[in-house]
Amino acid sequence: MFLIIGTKYRVSGSELTTGQHRCGRCGTLAPFIKKSGRNHLTLFFVVPVFPVGKTQSFIECPNCKARYQT
Ligand SMILES: [Zn+2]
Repeated sequence: MFLIIGTKYRVSGSELTTGQHRCGRCGTLAPFIKKSGRNHLTLFFVVPVFPVGKTQSFIECPNCKARYQT
């Protein structure tokens, strides 16, 4: 059997931040989307098997999707 193992960054959560943030890329001033992500080991680069590494939190601009570390 031939298995292809890879890693994939999976993002979860779509909570809005309480305050407004100014995006450094597109200049939008709005509540950003709070997300957290974690690398997952995958089979065939598609099926996430189990998480590796630690969870990282970031906020995302709702307009241009730029990500900023919290
Ligand atoms: Zn932006």
